[in-house]
Amino acid sequence: MLSTLLYRSHICDDVPVKALENLLSKANKNNELNGVTGILLFNGTHFFQLLEGPEQAVKTIYDRICLDKRHHNLVELMRDYAPSRRFGNAGMELFDLRLHDRAKVLQAVLDKGTSKYQLTYDDRALQFLRTFVEARENQEYFEIPPAGYWNFVSDAGPDTNNRQLPEKEYSFAFQPIVDPLSQQIVSLEALMRNASGMNPLDYFDSLPKSDAYELDIKSKKVVFELAKKMGIEGLTLSINLLPMSLVMVPEAVNFLLQQIRANGLVPEQVVIEVTENEVISRPDEFALAIKQLKAAGISLAIDDFGAGSAGLLLLARFQPDRIKIDRFIITDVHKSGPKQAIVQAIIKCCDSLNIGVIAEGVEKPEEWMWLESAGISHFQGFLFATPGLEAIPAVAWPELNERAL
Ligand code: C2E
Ligand code: MN
Ligand code: MN
Repeated sequence: MLSTLLYRSHICDDVPVKALENLLSKANKNNELNGVTGILLFNGTHFFQLLEGPEQAVKTIYDRICLDKRHHNLVELMRDYAPSRRFGNAGMELFDLRLHDRAKVLQAVLDKGTSKYQLTYDDRALQFLRTFVEARENQEYFEIPPAGYWNFVSDAGPDTNNRQLPEKEYSFAFQPIVDPLSQQIVSLEALMRNASGMNPLDYFDSLPKSDAYELDIKSKKVVFELAKKMGIEGLTLSINLLPMSLVMVPEAVNFLLQQIRANGLVPEQVVIEVTENEVISRPDEFALAIKQLKAAGISLAIDDFGAGSAGLLLLARFQPDRIKIDRFIITDVHKSGPKQAIVQAIIKCCDSLNIGVIAEGVEKPEEWMWLESAGISHFQGFLFATPGLEAIPAVAWPELNERAL
């Protein structure tokens, strides 16, 4: 099947443009052998390439292109299938936009085309091409520095990685949500740990439903007691709940409020995280429970946002105070055009509604740097801190690497 791949990238400073033609003619031999054709645009700073050919061949060539040291900040824009080639003539021509009259450059590019798509602007690939030629999205190309630009330096918190769960059925680990540039923990999320070592969600699943709801609520007593012991002044405390726990357990909200006060905390300090999927399965009952929480001063966060099937309408229906963008959107966001577009839409939407945005599951410096450029400032993930059992764990803070400057 004929597949199409589009990406853009940034030329490295030390690459002479003159050398490119040579390199490309070498690459072209290989492309031809594999039946891959396309076009490579260059505007003096960025490349934009369209690859067309058999799926596996395109993938293999793109993987090699990703390893090429002559460019960086590769962002994959589109991966799709097509009935015919748009640029089937040349192996892969290098088209330098600067050598053409501005007014005619788009037509000059399209003249290289081979198919009936030549002037069909509603073809997505050609739309991308046009956007690039007209430099319409330049301000969205966040050029992030290489990973080594920052050192991640752990603070003096305890090393909690090898802590064992004491002799009890369950307890909680705490993972910081941080503002890395101001080097501040903004919140702690309590994550259940149980004696069997099971993932908390599987653990709740393994219990009869009513027991799970009961445990979900009652276990939060332990969270608030630990919070008191650790001392969390100035921080918010995020707890996870199945939304149905709030609905099915009698007096659930009152119980939580009682425990919050009994441990010297205030409701305004507490954030309840519920996942998008659970919210939409019983929206009316959930709305009722949320009413009580909000009336008491407790905040609401939508967890794993973007992973379920609820979509943005959730923001209209439930007025969350925060959303946490799901890890699967965050992973490799710096390399994916579609993920970048999704994150930007979420940010824009949440800005208009004054909803705080947290990126969760951040593992790579590049992910963090891209998300900071996009306007997010609160993060959770192994890059900064892993959950600490019954403790606030050490946090690795980014510091500019003097040698990289
Ligand atoms: P969650 O609320 O989305 O919590 C984040 C999960 O991602 C945690 O897994 C955390 O350890 C993990 N995580 C954090 N940073 C990273 C990262 O950089 N990379 C990767 N790969 N993972 C990261 P955990 O502790 O296994 O919890 C799984 C889920 O269980 C939680 O997802 C939450 O939905 C649920 N859960 C935890 N505690 C409770 C609870 O007391 N009640 C309820 N109802 N659910 C809970
Ligand atoms: Mn959570
Ligand atoms: Mn989550």
